[in-house]
Amino acid sequence: MRILVVEDEKKVASFIKKGLEEEYYSVDVAFDGKEGLNLALSEEYDLIILDLMLPFKDGLSILKEIREQKILTPVIILTARDTIQDKVTGLDTGADDYLAKPFSFEELLARIRAILRRNSVEKNNIIRAGDLILDTQAHKVFRNNVEIQLTPKEYAILEYLMRNKNRVISRTKLSEHIYEFHFDPGTNVIDVYINKLRNKIDKGYEKQMIRTIRGVGYLIKDD
Ligand code: CA
Repeated sequence: MRILVVEDEKKVASFIKKGLEEEYYSVDVAFDGKEGLNLALSEEYDLIILDLMLPFKDGLSILKEIREQKILTPVIILTARDTIQDKVTGLDTGADDYLAKPFSFEELLARIRAILRRNSVEKNNIIRAGDLILDTQAHKVFRNNVEIQLTPKEYAILEYLMRNKNRVISRTKLSEHIYEFHFDPGTNVIDVYINKLRNKIDKGYEKQMIRTIRGVGYLIKDD
């Protein structure tokens, strides 16, 4: 899952980026409001973490503009301003949640998981398809009750397919949701990862969980 962090305090931004990457998210950072708005409008994110007081363009204006453009990406406002009125204005402008600085990173992670659950098939942190189980909090994967060791990128691809199970996901969409902005993975990198995933997940099983839809993309079907 890919997250945009709009935060002008470099220390805070790099702390968040590092912490999120340790949780297998891929993260883009914008250090001012203009860049933040550009990225939010042009890239595909699963979630945006938005500071309010920013150079060039404040967080609330960014939020307003992306909602006017019908971009429904969930937004968590992260700011030192935490009066009741600030929270109300933020939520009314279209934020999904609000966290006041200083914040606990554990709480931020829990809120991110809760928001991603809303748009997903999962009702807790466990996603199932047949005998394949993915624990999005512990980042663990099991098939037929046997734990499977995945690299962070393999995990990220599987997580995206599982969160969108029963839907065909194109290679482009997959790479958009697991790589940062300046990374060009090339066309066949996704296929290479899918092959590695199949070796770990499907090898030795009659039922193949990861299906290729020729000319379109990949699908995990829950049936
Ligand atoms: Ca700020």
